Amino acid sequence: MLNTLRKIVQEVNAAKDLKAALSIIVQRVKEAMGSQVCSVYLLDAETNRFVLMATDGLNKRSIGKVSMAPSEGLVGLVGSREEPLNLEDAASHPRYRYFAETGEERYASFLGAPIIHHRRVMGVLVVQQKERRQFDEGEEAFLVTMSAQLAGVIAHAEATGSIRGLGRQGKGVQEAKFVGVPGAPGAAVGTAVVVLPPADLNVVPDRSVDDIAAELELFDKALGWVREDMQELSEKLATQLRKEERALFDVYLMMLEDAALGNEVRKVIRTGQWAQGALRQVVLDHVNRFELMDDAYLRERASDVRDLGRRLLAYLQEERKTTLVYPDNSILVSEELSPAMLGEVPEGKLVGLISVTGSGNSHVAIFARAMGIPTVMGVVDLPYSKIDGIKLIVDGYHGEVFTNPSDLLSKQYAEVVEEERQLTEGLDALRALPCETLDGHRMPLWVNTGLLADVARAQQRGAEGVGLYRTEVPFMINERFPSEKEQLATYREQLQAFHPLPVTMRTLDIGGDKSLSYFPIKEENPFLGWRGIRVTLDHPEIFLVQTRAMLKASEGLNNLRILLPMISGTQELEEALHLIHRAWGEVRDEGTDVPLPPIGVMIEIPAAVYQTRELARQVDFLSVGSNDLTQYLLAVDRNNPRVADLYDFLHPAVLQALQKVVNDAHLEGKPVSICGEMAGDPAAAVLLLAMGFDSLSMNATNLPKVKWLLRQVTQSKAKELLGQVMTMDNPHLIYSTLHLALRNLGLGRVINPASNIQA
Ligand code: PEP
Ligand code: MG
Repeated sequence: MLNTLRKIVQEVNAAKDLKAALSIIVQRVKEAMGSQVCSVYLLDAETNRFVLMATDGLNKRSIGKVSMAPSEGLVGLVGSREEPLNLEDAASHPRYRYFAETGEERYASFLGAPIIHHRRVMGVLVVQQKERRQFDEGEEAFLVTMSAQLAGVIAHAEATGSIRGLGRQGKGVQEAKFVGVPGAPGAAVGTAVVVLPPADLNVVPDRSVDDIAAELELFDKALGWVREDMQELSEKLATQLRKEERALFDVYLMMLEDAALGNEVRKVIRTGQWAQGALRQVVLDHVNRFELMDDAYLRERASDVRDLGRRLLAYLQEERKTTLVYPDNSILVSEELSPAMLGEVPEGKLVGLISVTGSGNSHVAIFARAMGIPTVMGVVDLPYSKIDGIKLIVDGYHGEVFTNPSDLLSKQYAEVVEEERQLTEGLDALRALPCETLDGHRMPLWVNTGLLADVARAQQRGAEGVGLYRTEVPFMINERFPSEKEQLATYREQLQAFHPLPVTMRTLDIGGDKSLSYFPIKEENPFLGWRGIRVTLDHPEIFLVQTRAMLKASEGLNNLRILLPMISGTQELEEALHLIHRAWGEVRDEGTDVPLPPIGVMIEIPAAVYQTRELARQVDFLSVGSNDLTQYLLAVDRNNPRVADLYDFLHPAVLQALQKVVNDAHLEGKPVSICGEMAGDPAAAVLLLAMGFDSLSMNATNLPKVKWLLRQVTQSKAKELLGQVMTMDNPHLIYSTLHLALRNLGLGRVINPASNIQA
């Protein structure tokens, strides 16, 4: 059964549109279950009726005509109860409804399963049988499993339809909304530019071209190069492989012959598709066919075709790289956005970002916030390979993306963009003013840095220091570990730029979702694995080189502070302190005269919350990493869009942990700051002020908003609000109470300028 299931899903996945997908589903399921009828009903959101969309067994003329409300018929019952229904004699059920046009009276038994995608009922999958008999447990399980697997495929096909005008019942291109999670606040209206990871056939988008001759020429060139590679490879391996083994290369060369793959690709290019898209279509089609074969040898050939396809694609992409044009108002779209992709867009062209995977707490989203680019993450249902070149709206406040938006919606969002621009401009005046509440409480606002551009932005916004310099960023954009000298130069630049203001440098925090191409860490549970201080304590040579570089860089400036990430207890701290003292001794022996800088610990693991006092005793300051602390306290992967709505720094457990850390740090007489994204959320900052944090460190983009808001409140009002929310047990209630209170104080404008748009 498992094999049948796999095959059907694979075939449906390869279907060219929704109609084709549904027709494969009904045929194959009917065949696999040996039933006489299989039908799919999909819920039409506009009419709220389940419409018969495909059938094998019922009268085909009733497709698109027969429909029922959730309160009608057996299909409506399955859809509204969200449970399978297995009946021996359907006609005797009180909810049975007869549709003459389907020819249904001949079928006695009925088995229906709801098709549910992300909690949303999309339709109902039904099989029917002439004789009166209950479908057995195995059959029921098969149908339920099938419909669960197909839900995603149908959702994807539907979405593609709305984008390319191949929607159900022939509806043309329509505005469609895709829900993800907020990555960076702000809105943008622009044009999609789909960026691809290198040589991955599955994600090559469709793209129409006018210059067909150029694409054909490009493809022929790539074909020629791969042919040469194959011949060279075959000759190189002549002495190491037996003749029969080398025959594989002949097979490859044959496949590349004009009459085979080459010609098929050319045919698709001639329809106006670019070479990469044509290659993807042809190669994946062949791969699919091979993978469905029962013969193991032939199945293996799928990987040969895929390999050839990848080689051709690599050449096509190489040629293309230089010609990729970024229109004005580009919105980058990628399956997995990487910081490197952001760097490739020419200055001034980028207005928005969309990543199919990841969540608002992924590091790429943190960079996007620092750069002030509206971003939506985790838009898992977006058929991103189909949207290159179309008009998009990115709503980074709510985590929504609109494809082919109407003129009205585009106008509304353009107004939000303008409003936000004016707000930022207005806040520029705050640059030189202190962050002081109406009742005279000073709250130092620091910045988080990592990217080079952060330095200038931080200075423009009037930051009072760097609360977190993520040193892994320069490591991530390198192709090997930077040497001590190279690190020294990078760190000195950072320390000098802010001098005499303090710069808090965090030691290397790799692992989790921050990987180095030259030091790959592959783990089942990377966030619970080898991360942060765990890696550097296991590699003292990396840690020592880094701390030596930091210390030397601070010579004569003396504004360095060192921060240790992912500390889970005193033993790790002691080991790290020992290494720092060793590095300090070494640099002084080498003649660099620097004092031992203040050293701090990040509180970002629940264990550290309960050891705040013990840790505080051994260091000079503490800094709460609320991004990780939230993820670990709530057991919600900060990177996983499926659970993104459970990730909430306003959860009562998080608020209580934060308050405990502040109280315990102060009992030991040590200052405590917070450098997670929460500190840059203006509404949350009011609570952090009330808790007693000594400073807040955030991205430079949000700093003026936080400053503006804190200058409009009194500390006593903030404490009153904190007292109120601390008695609540529900994060949503806390959120709305906080936001409502700030709106009532007339302070809503920095919270969400897009809150009035109803789309
Ligand atoms: C945190 O965890 O809150 C933090 C500031 O560090 P990072 O986001 O780099 O893990
Ligand atoms: Mg962290």
